[in-house]
Amino acid sequence: MKAVLRATVLLGIATALLAGALLHRSPAPSDEYPAGRVLVEASTGGVRVTDVRSGVMGTLFGVEVHAGDEGTGRRACSVAYHRIAALEARLSHWREDSLLSRVNREAASRPVTVDADTFWLLESARYFHRISAGTFDPSIGPLLGLFKPFARLEAMPPDGEIALARALVGFDRVLLDPLTRAVRFAAPGMSIDLGAIAKGYAADEAVRVARSEGALACRVNAGGDMVAGGAPPGRPEGFETEIRDPRGDPAATLPGRTFDLRDRAAATSGNYERTTEIAGKRYSHILDPRTGRPVPDAVTQVTVMAPTGLEADALATALVVLGPESGLRLAQELPNVEALFLLPDGDGFRSVATTGFPGGRR
Ligand code: ADP
Ligand code: MG
Repeated sequence: MKAVLRATVLLGIATALLAGALLHRSPAPSDEYPAGRVLVEASTGGVRVTDVRSGVMGTLFGVEVHAGDEGTGRRACSVAYHRIAALEARLSHWREDSLLSRVNREAASRPVTVDADTFWLLESARYFHRISAGTFDPSIGPLLGLFKPFARLEAMPPDGEIALARALVGFDRVLLDPLTRAVRFAAPGMSIDLGAIAKGYAADEAVRVARSEGALACRVNAGGDMVAGGAPPGRPEGFETEIRDPRGDPAATLPGRTFDLRDRAAATSGNYERTTEIAGKRYSHILDPRTGRPVPDAVTQVTVMAPTGLEADALATALVVLGPESGLRLAQELPNVEALFLLPDGDGFRSVATTGFPGGRR
């Protein structure tokens, strides 16, 4: 495995040298994802190429491209993954060498200049933090860091430690200078985790670059966050999309909740996966910055439809924290945003949605 990796890196460096492109090569060759499963099918107007890869931003990604010919379709998929790799190399909080990790190490002592993508995500995060009454807060890093080891021990951290970590959380103390694209933390110990927004943005960008490579239409599934650019030839309503059924196995979909996505995104967040069980109770991987604790089981999952993956991803997380009442109110206020809440009800769940959500209010 290591030898293969080293060979790939050497080959990458050699290619870069040959191309004379060492200076502006992004991502580094080692940031390529391993090849996944590629399926090429004939379709109306050409081909449909589906390229599924695991271990992408810590999850499973699927890129579906409709193109006039196979070469264009395959190239569009590969360009899409390249763009995602470039973003992951900067935005991952668990990669020591990422730009975000450098921000987390240094921004309390000096302003750290970041690239345009990272700055855009941070500015967007500030916007969602503001409109969500502070419930969406990527500066939640200190609390996530506290909970991680305790989750492994299946125990809750002591109240005093939660209070200390919570005192370091607050996106209004992440200082952003648009002139220099610099990030600064107001206090030492602060840290950022873009896990609730980065996948949605990566999907937006993957769709964008695939289309500029010649894809007629493209859909990206980023671990359940969907972005659809255009519509498959012969299907002007868009890409048929389903919502996962939180009760069943991961492949089960929610009956009666199929909708079409065209130049639009849908993201789902919830408590059905990535939970930790402590003393027989399940805890979410989404934390409420107001309490410093995992959000209670009041919401099973939330699906948000929005113009972009970035918005859908951020809002889905925010709405899980806000809960059905304030969450629906916020979704209803925002133009071009729809939301569907699944709420626990006995052994199953009941649903509430904004009036414009496909399927309507039930
Ligand atoms: P998923 O990654 O499962 O699709 P989300 O998009 O909701 O789910 O992102 C959850 C991740 O966001 C968490 O794993 C954590 O890294 C981070 N996070 C947790 N709580 C919050 C919060 N209140 N605001 C912003 N980010 C959060
Ligand atoms: Mg999210």
